[in-house]
Amino acid sequence: MPAGAILVTFDDGFRGVREHALPVMEHLGWPFTVFLVSDLIGQEDLWTRDANPDGVTYPLLDADEIRDMQRRGVSFHSHTRSHASLPTLDDSTLAEQLTGSRQALSHLLGHGVPYIAYPFGHVDARVEAATRAAGYRAAFSTQSGFNRREVNRFRIRRIDVYGTDTASMLLRKIRLGSNDGSLGHAVRYYLNQLKRRLPGARA
Ligand SMILES: [Zn+2]
Repeated sequence: MPAGAILVTFDDGFRGVREHALPVMEHLGWPFTVFLVSDLIGQEDLWTRDANPDGVTYPLLDADEIRDMQRRGVSFHSHTRSHASLPTLDDSTLAEQLTGSRQALSHLLGHGVPYIAYPFGHVDARVEAATRAAGYRAAFSTQSGFNRREVNRFRIRRIDVYGTDTASMLLRKIRLGSNDGSLGHAVRYYLNQLKRRLPGARA
């Protein structure tokens, strides 16, 4: 990818991505990627019930909607079978979450599924090894930062974007590779950069 390139990704595959993001992204002509929970296609985000049993759940994209978006240039990859926290699983269940979703999504999409996003961003050394063994080529974490050439491809960094972010906050997040889009953070960042460049400064 060219220097400074940005990748836009959406985890979970909510129908809201189709309703709200797709028209905007089509208008801009920007491609984007959605990570799907393969056992829950056309259902709801049942995994949120564990953390919030009384909370509402939201509809997830169904197979027809996914195929239509695929035709319109959206790419889809894996977010496991059921959105389990992978480090908590035993080895065989872990392997099943990883390979099962890859197989099911390959069948649905009609092509290989080389990329995955870890549910909740949860990953450890064992999960990383299992992800490699399951045949994925790269995996997305939720750790913030830039992805330089030497980044661990099984811990690709991402920046969180919220509906409450303003355009200038989002721009600061992207420029600084940080989840903190506040003006104060930007000022501290640039001051530190400046200090490093001063003669005799300690890095
Ligand atoms: Zn998720």
